[in-house]
Amino acid sequence: MSAESCVFCKIVAGTLPADIILDTEDLLVIKDINPQAPIHYLILPKKHIETLLDLNPMDTLLASELLMITQRLANKAGIKSFRLVANNGKEANQRVPHLHLHFVAGSKMTGF
Ligand SMILES: [Zn+2]
Repeated sequence: MSAESCVFCKIVAGTLPADIILDTEDLLVIKDINPQAPIHYLILPKKHIETLLDLNPMDTLLASELLMITQRLANKAGIKSFRLVANNGKEANQRVPHLHLHFVAGSKMTGF
């Protein structure tokens, strides 16, 4: 999929609406439109990168920011427990082919 037809790129560009939680130079955090828990955010790079396998060495700082922003999200929500999930690729149920992490919290979780 090209960046032009990508839903997340349209949200980043402001041509599609979303509930924005955090907006940094490189990342956007939005509410998932189909939340699976009381807190369910999507952390996405503003740059169109399809999957974790498409990151290159130039993206090392960006990859770090994707994890570090969880501290700001946890502080903002006043929580210390959350789950971070990356569905990477179609068979892993990645529905939007633009790299994103699910930040999920606010209910007791089991598994893993
Ligand atoms: Zn995109």
